Amino acid sequence: MAVVSLTEGTKGGGPVSSFFRSTIIATPLMTMLTMDRNNGSNNVNPGEHYRHFSESSLLDTSTEGAELVPMWPWFLFLAGAMCCLVFSSVSHLLACHSNHLSRFFWRLDYAGISIMIVCSYYAPVYYSFYCHPLSSLLYLTSITILGVLAIITLLTPALSSPHFRVFRVSLFLGMGFTGLIPAVHAAALFLDHPQVLVALGYEILMGILYAIGVWFYVSRVPERWKPGFFDLAGHSHQIFHVFVVGGALTHSAAIMVILHWRQGMPTCF
Ligand SMILES: [Zn+2]
Repeated sequence: MAVVSLTEGTKGGGPVSSFFRSTIIATPLMTMLTMDRNNGSNNVNPGEHYRHFSESSLLDTSTEGAELVPMWPWFLFLAGAMCCLVFSSVSHLLACHSNHLSRFFWRLDYAGISIMIVCSYYAPVYYSFYCHPLSSLLYLTSITILGVLAIITLLTPALSSPHFRVFRVSLFLGMGFTGLIPAVHAAALFLDHPQVLVALGYEILMGILYAIGVWFYVSRVPERWKPGFFDLAGHSHQIFHVFVVGGALTHSAAIMVILHWRQGMPTCF
């Protein structure tokens, strides 16, 4: 009941505010918990359960049929983002243990980011091509294969040598271009759907944030200007992570927009 009362009166706001609202107080998981609690009491009529579900699902689900759209791609993205943050925290905490473990943990750090990137693809592709299952299957299979290869490459010491540098760069470029193709396809299919174009705008912003982060990672700025001065704070690797988190938040906003759009037309004709 608390969830319902909190969500009432909070309609409106942009996708970013929707992100915080929906993830903190109105996730379907919380809805299920609320429903379970209500099941335990005797003074709630069956219609209340549906009302709770429709009012406290992700975003403003007063749209008819919103509950027909599966939520697993959104949860997959959240799981990937959490995996990335946990791997990163563990790696940064324990990498100073020894030389041997240090190499493993830095590989794990980058593998976590790859996992998040792969998990990021599912929601926008799934919701955009909800009524084009063949395209959806093709794009999701491609990114999954490339992602698994990237993660295996990152975690395999033999493939971390300079000899495989071209292979590694090709793999990551492949992951990037795999995202461009469905984005252009979706824009061509839904040119007259402003929500899809807004979501694509957020995805472009995400790409820019990731690119800036990678630039810091490759250029080793600012520590190359003053070696030793940024060892504790302001190191390029830290800036790189900040941009990765920024990219993930922007991607969340894009998923919010595309999911809300799909919830408005959950059936294919
Ligand atoms: Zn790191």
